[in-house]
Amino acid sequence: MDALTLNRLFRQAPLWVLASHNAGKIKEIADLVAPFSITVKGAGEMGLNEPEETEKTFSGNALLKARAAAQVSGAVALADDSGLEVAALGGELGVYSARWAGPEKDFRLAMQTVEEKLAASGSADRSARFVCVLALVHPEGAELVFEGEVRGNLVWPPRGDQGFGYDPVFVARGETRTFAQMNQSEKKALSHRADAFRKLTDAVFSA
Ligand code: IMP
Repeated sequence: MDALTLNRLFRQAPLWVLASHNAGKIKEIADLVAPFSITVKGAGEMGLNEPEETEKTFSGNALLKARAAAQVSGAVALADDSGLEVAALGGELGVYSARWAGPEKDFRLAMQTVEEKLAASGSADRSARFVCVLALVHPEGAELVFEGEVRGNLVWPPRGDQGFGYDPVFVARGETRTFAQMNQSEKKALSHRADAFRKLTDAVFSA
């Protein structure tokens, strides 16, 4: 199937299931595709469970979640996976970014651990990137994958109280404030998630 036919296949599906239980993410994506007459429903609303993320790559996990949702729902499914890659740590934390915060989801502790590992590495390289991979899967098997990123540096100590996760220690290239010191729309203009969505909408909804 050529790329144009593939894109049309997704564009013409009336319903996309978002393989996530995060209400914020569902609303954001529903707003994004609303102009194209596509309805978005969350995994919870469709009675879908979230499978365990067992893959070692962002695309592997995003595809795993989207394939499961497409298979069970019979609808087009969209899933994402994201995280932080730190150059001096060989690309860690990667798909394990959330797990570094432990069962208590303690990101202060996670940021502290990253800082300690950076110091122990002996490297002066503080570069890092946030990555977001989106997987769009058709129940009949067609698949599209889009990767977004934002490059920057890690700072210490953490600054700012907005956002989530590793935002207080991440400064995007060309910026001076951390993501946690920016409001939602400022971060959105720069973020890995926005970059991935731009690539998706450009591919699927362009003529
Ligand atoms: P998930 O894609 O929702 O599983 O997120 C993975 C983890 O990556 C999150 O729990 C955060 O630790 C981290 N992460 C992903 N995106 C961001 C971001 O925009 N800011 C801060 N941390 C993020």
